[in-house]
Amino acid sequence: MSQKPFHPAIRLSIEAGGIVVHNLSRRCGRCILPETFPSVGLSSEAVCAYCRDGGGGGGAPAEEVMAEVRALLAAADAARGYDCVALYSGGKDSSVALYALTREMGMRVLAFTLDNGFVSETAFRNMKRITDALGVDHVMYRPARRFMTRIYSVSLQEPFDQETTKYSTSGCGSCISVVLAAGARLAAEKNAPLLAGGWTPGQFTNDALLPGEFLESVCVRHFGPLSARSDDLGRELDRYGKRGSPFPSLFNPLYCRGYDEAQIYNVLGGLGWVRPADTDSCSTNCLLNGFLVLDHLLKYGYHPYEYELAHHVRSGFLPREEALARIARINVSPSALEKIAGELGLEVRAEDYGLNCD
Ligand SMILES: [Zn+2]
Repeated sequence: MSQKPFHPAIRLSIEAGGIVVHNLSRRCGRCILPETFPSVGLSSEAVCAYCRDGGGGGGAPAEEVMAEVRALLAAADAARGYDCVALYSGGKDSSVALYALTREMGMRVLAFTLDNGFVSETAFRNMKRITDALGVDHVMYRPARRFMTRIYSVSLQEPFDQETTKYSTSGCGSCISVVLAAGARLAAEKNAPLLAGGWTPGQFTNDALLPGEFLESVCVRHFGPLSARSDDLGRELDRYGKRGSPFPSLFNPLYCRGYDEAQIYNVLGGLGWVRPADTDSCSTNCLLNGFLVLDHLLKYGYHPYEYELAHHVRSGFLPREEALARIARINVSPSALEKIAGELGLEVRAEDYGLNCD
């Protein structure tokens, strides 16, 4: 990635030891989307196409989704041990999702974590505190490190479609697909009729209940470029992609309870959750995220969380200034960047980014 020219709209600098991103293009004055964002259609009054058509729809109303979830559970095997397998990263959103599923919705939940080899130690401690406080069973699965690092390094070098890059880094997209496929396999093994996950409004999708076929299509879309690049990786991914049973639906409880960050931190603090100090400004569990975010910014000219944060600004969840600060300060130092790149087998020096470390 260091050999490729960077996006012309992006400049980097260092402040207080951390990398700061400057996007030189115009931005929507209502949300935050920059001119570099796909299909942004910024008007002369600086209003983007997403703001003009109401932000892309809010999905089905919460009561409708809850009724659908209840019907799905009622139709499932009565002797099942769990109502759902919850995809659990230890981050703030999936932690509060676990709280909502158990305490607010009364579901029997099996938490499932995929350890990608880059999970913050604080996130592991948070997982223990939250699952203990909520009385939730927890399965941890750690694929071979070689397999996961290969997924990330190939993702960084292969082109991905715009449906992936609009909302996430290619590395996150690939990793999430492995999580979805492994979670679906566990749900089938445990006879759990539903998957659950806690993505924030505007991230990934606006729908609170996603059909299994959709999840399967996401995995196919992400695994395709990885398998095309490497036969070995393709064979390993087949173990996740080729499944005997269909994917269950994926339910997001956060869309059915409103989304208020301050209230979320309050609930989590009460359960012993602590914000990690070693992750970037947009992630509360993964040490790789900052590196992947920076690669994405330099390739495409916008932050992979920009769409999600724009949605939060438009919906009044987050002040515009704070959203802008969050995408500018990615809270990664140049030395952390070099270290992570080295762990992925990539040769990256801070100077390649136009950064002077001293
Ligand atoms: Zn806008």
